[in-house]
Amino acid sequence: MPVIVWFRHDLRLADNPALAAAVATGDEILPLYILDDATSLGGASNWWLHGSLDALAGELARRAAPLVLRRGPAADVLPALAAETKASAVFWNRCYEPLSIARDKALKQALVASGIEVKSFNGGMLAEPWELQTGSGGPYKVFTPFWRSLAARAPFAAPLPAPKKLRAAAHFPSDDLSRWNLRPAKPDWAGGLRAAWRPGEKHAAARLSFFLDELVAGYATMRDFPAMEGTSRLSPHLHFGEISPRQVWAAADAASHATPDAASGVMSFLREVGWREFTHHLIYHWPEMVDHAWKPEFEEFPWAHDDALLAAWRRGRTGYPIVDAGMRELWSTGYMHNRVRMIAASFLVKDLLIHWRRGAEWFEDTLVDADLANNRAGWQWVAGSGADAAPYFRIFNPVTQGEKFDADGQYIRRYVPELARLDNRHIHRPWEAPPATLAAAGIELGATYPKPIVDHARARERALAALASIKKG
Ligand code: FAD
Repeated sequence: MPVIVWFRHDLRLADNPALAAAVATGDEILPLYILDDATSLGGASNWWLHGSLDALAGELARRAAPLVLRRGPAADVLPALAAETKASAVFWNRCYEPLSIARDKALKQALVASGIEVKSFNGGMLAEPWELQTGSGGPYKVFTPFWRSLAARAPFAAPLPAPKKLRAAAHFPSDDLSRWNLRPAKPDWAGGLRAAWRPGEKHAAARLSFFLDELVAGYATMRDFPAMEGTSRLSPHLHFGEISPRQVWAAADAASHATPDAASGVMSFLREVGWREFTHHLIYHWPEMVDHAWKPEFEEFPWAHDDALLAAWRRGRTGYPIVDAGMRELWSTGYMHNRVRMIAASFLVKDLLIHWRRGAEWFEDTLVDADLANNRAGWQWVAGSGADAAPYFRIFNPVTQGEKFDADGQYIRRYVPELARLDNRHIHRPWEAPPATLAAAGIELGATYPKPIVDHARARERALAALASIKKG
């Protein structure tokens, strides 16, 4: 009787506690992935999922334990497969999003009721959301004390090795991955994604090694400059669980011991990994923050509704070059640099007064690293409505942010080629360039590149007035 190992956000063999526990039973293993429309992803994430499942299936096939793919509501598919295979047990690594928790609870009850053992494990977090509490009890609402208490728990359990051999179950029918149509075909818009990314456990490990060897020492200073390769770019690998935070922590810690010059970069990097833990802590304790402001007064915020402005933002045609570069990086590569995520998000929420949920939804549609906890917390952080968020009155100025973090316009030139020939003085504010300068750079404002869709100074005043209205109310 096989043990089903249900893969979800843990598409790897190494440091996979559910898989390791299944191997330790000595029973046959049946690896399973379910494509469930209830938890369906955006196009860019689906593209990644295909690559990640393909890689996982390859590694499992090398161990003669083929991955079984099934499609449908997990609540139906899993019990049916358990009956079909006469499974004795189902093991999985825990997820922390509200829908997943509800699904898993119900499934556990149903499976246990039919005599099947269910075991769940921590494969995705350094500490699970209920393990960290403030001194007075209850979940953390502020990052710094959360981070201190998380970091104090180090060292974390050593990552588990990938099983060398698996005792496979008998053959059971599987869907054909390519027939799930996770990759776009007509049109095939994924060229930029293919050029930028390599999904899969092996590539996640290689990327981590490269980052620790080449980049981490400069991380603290370089991480804010979008034109530079200064960050790990591990976010999609972490989201799909191709690498675990324990593996990341252990390797980073070893790098900092081996190269003391890298220690401060490693600390700064691990603090960001700590933000991932914090957002999962928040979404577990306040599941309503997926759709609602964490700070209730923001539910009354006078949001504007303007489909034309929303469309201009999505397409990277706001007339603010750093915002447009970010939105186009997102569209073409499925990724946006963190500094620019903050600038572009602030522009939507504060300059255009469009609800943060609209922005979060667009990111979830287009990011390869779309992650409910990180994304919703990130948007609420920018909007000022989240836990430990930036104060609302701190409004990013897209011009000065561009001048500070992309001083020579390299990032803008990469993603907004129609501005490529504009000089550094004007590249962040093309509307101030003299007509002759624009003409020499081949730019016709309002035709080849948009005029600003709002005036930032006026938009800022409007945003502050909107904030004052909810503070009074
Ligand atoms: P690094 O700087 O190398 O950081 C290492 C890891 O730490 C990341 O891979 C990520 O897992 C985690 N991390 C870093 N910054 C944050 C953060 N602010 N919050 C939570 N975790 C973090 N990140 C996502 O993974 N998915 C999202 O959908 C997402 N949406 C965001 C939306 C907004 C509006 C903002 C402001 C941020 C969002 N982030 C999101 C956080 C952050 O921008 C990305 O994690 C980061 O840019 C990924 O690049 P990296 O892997 O090179 O990061």
